[in-house]
Amino acid sequence: MRQNMSISNLAIFSSATAEWATPPALFASLDRIFHFELDVCATPENAKCPVFFTKEQDGRKQDWRQLRCFCNPPYGRQIGPWVKKSYEASQAGALVVCLLPCRTDTAWFHDYVKYRAEIHFLRGRIIFGEAKHNAPFASMIAIYGKRDNRRLRFCQQCGNFFVARADAKTCSNACRQATGALRISS
Ligand SMILES: [Zn+2]
Repeated sequence: MRQNMSISNLAIFSSATAEWATPPALFASLDRIFHFELDVCATPENAKCPVFFTKEQDGRKQDWRQLRCFCNPPYGRQIGPWVKKSYEASQAGALVVCLLPCRTDTAWFHDYVKYRAEIHFLRGRIIFGEAKHNAPFASMIAIYGKRDNRRLRFCQQCGNFFVARADAKTCSNACRQATGALRISS
């Protein structure tokens, strides 16, 4: 067994970094649309909703009822059971929005995300929690369950999630101007 793994490898593979805290701005843009009631995978320090399940409570074993749920699971091996639970909870009436790494070669993606969730791939790589650098992987939002049939997208300028009118690529006039795009708005 190799003893001299580099510091960067250790950081990536340590169990502590299996938990990637959701960036507040990204959560806020999602929350404005979905009005979350339950954070199914939280710690008291990083909980995004007044009602949440901790690691000890293990949200996978709880009833998510028909609540509007946010789920940013640990990104280690246990991610599969979390997306399975998200899908199953949505079948029982919950609305579940997951922040997930883009791992399109995994069994969990093919079994419980592809064709089961509405998927939004994030442009660029996000900065999690207290991190100083962008994540070493791409991310996606997977939405399970009933909701308004509106057009959800990420703003190409600021990265926030928004409900698009027509073919808008940015969330606001300010962002549209910042992109320098010359478009006549209707
Ligand atoms: Zn924007």
